[in-house]
Amino acid sequence: MKRLPSFYALVLFLATIGIAQPPKLVVLISLDLFPYDYIERFQPYFGENGFNYLLKNGASFTNARYEHAYLKTAPDHASLVTGVYSHLHGITANHWYDRKKKQTVNCVDDETVMMLGSTGMGRSPRNLKLTTVGDMLRLRTGNQSKVVGISSKDRSAILMAGKTGTAYWIEDSVVVTSTYYMKSLPPYISAFNRSGIFEQYFGQTWTEVNPLAAAKLCDTDDAWYESGGPGLGRTFPHRIIGNDFTRITPSYYGALDGSPFSAEILLALGRSIFAAESLGTRGVTDMFCIGISTPDIIGHSFGPNSHEVFDDVLRTDSLLASFFSFLDTHVGLDNCIIALSSDHGIAPIPEYIKKTSPATDAGRITADEVSTIANRVLSNRFRARSSIPRWVEKVIDCDIYLNAGFIDSLHVPIDSAMHVLRDSLRTIHPFAAAYSRDQVARARMLDTLGKKVALSYYALRSGDVMFILKPFYVTGSEGTNHGQPYDYDTHVPLIMTGRGIKPGVYANNVSPIDIAPTLSYILKIAFPPNREGNVLMEALK
Ligand SMILES: [Zn+2]
Repeated sequence: MKRLPSFYALVLFLATIGIAQPPKLVVLISLDLFPYDYIERFQPYFGENGFNYLLKNGASFTNARYEHAYLKTAPDHASLVTGVYSHLHGITANHWYDRKKKQTVNCVDDETVMMLGSTGMGRSPRNLKLTTVGDMLRLRTGNQSKVVGISSKDRSAILMAGKTGTAYWIEDSVVVTSTYYMKSLPPYISAFNRSGIFEQYFGQTWTEVNPLAAAKLCDTDDAWYESGGPGLGRTFPHRIIGNDFTRITPSYYGALDGSPFSAEILLALGRSIFAAESLGTRGVTDMFCIGISTPDIIGHSFGPNSHEVFDDVLRTDSLLASFFSFLDTHVGLDNCIIALSSDHGIAPIPEYIKKTSPATDAGRITADEVSTIANRVLSNRFRARSSIPRWVEKVIDCDIYLNAGFIDSLHVPIDSAMHVLRDSLRTIHPFAAAYSRDQVARARMLDTLGKKVALSYYALRSGDVMFILKPFYVTGSEGTNHGQPYDYDTHVPLIMTGRGIKPGVYANNVSPIDIAPTLSYILKIAFPPNREGNVLMEALK
């Protein structure tokens, strides 16, 4: 009996000197399309317990930037959990052109597995070339740790869950997964799908949380260059109906997906998974990755200066607050590490720039226009006799895939075609730079933008010629886009809070690829292989 007091004294002593117990739960929150600028501009309108909880209790890095060229959802979610860029993890884009199959493929397509909860091509992390921080955690604990990724997008959930975790994502009105992860949907997921949660928003109205602040901060609500979003219209109030106000049609789910209500559903799914899987309460560290896609859909359609983006950020702030409160009740925030970041920012809508700053050069170019330019350049140079110039097989984002068969039939060496196109694009508006794949493979010789392209490059998946647009130019015919190595796309929040983190504001230059090695260090597990990111030592106790 005498030993009891000394045992408690030892526990008290260890607690006092700060011998760290491993955290019970790591929560990685990725806000899809969320430039750091949103935090700067909108913080005065946040509540106490959402972003401000993280900013006050955590380490906030005010200069976190991606260093690669092509900022897209899939490559950057892979980077968040592997700690490296596309040239090592292999996920170069959301879609790339498969030269053998002669078709565009989704980065998480997997013909060897089947969908659970829907039909169509199976999905898995098969194309991800490296293990993630979550995989390393499971390796260390003999698969005792659970690693779960959820999102409204397949790529975000799948890539964050890594090779050995479990991913669930939302397709229209159904939470789905694939046979890569399990044989059938768990009963609690099927129950979630049957609960009516996807239908309960039909006819509801998305109104502004803080219209006075929006009027002060944002562009006019009815800007003609907003693309409006699927079934939503351009101005508040947005009624969530779709194209038939009498009944639910597929277009309703499109409208729901483009509204803040879809993030409410995602976090409700998060709570269901939490309860069913007992995350963070099983005596071993678990990891929960949440990819909130709503800001991406709204940001593309309405642009970063819109009423809709401001309102969605305020609603996201409230959603985070209630989720943190849920975590506190079930696991205790002191037992968690929360890391929040984003996959990319967003360019202002070019027409908005032209309106507010007529002297600034801004604009857009579509994939078809790039293809037309490339065909013209190569036809002129090589005087092709073919009546239909088919030099280009495909343009996806900033990757141009040449038509090797056609070029060969004209007896033109493919290298010559690549080089001519590359050198010509460099002189044509609105291209800022262009590189051929042989050049990118010799990364040492490249200039600053070329080195960024090299970090995005993976031989079997990238184009033959890759370009970068001039600042304030975007790809696509409407709304706005991301995918260029400029500050509005690369600069994102990086905030970590919880056990072992030293609160503060850190202005040194860091990158979201530092999150994976920093989590590994805190968890005392091996880094994911081929680490490029650094441990954020300055923010550790
Ligand atoms: Zn996007």
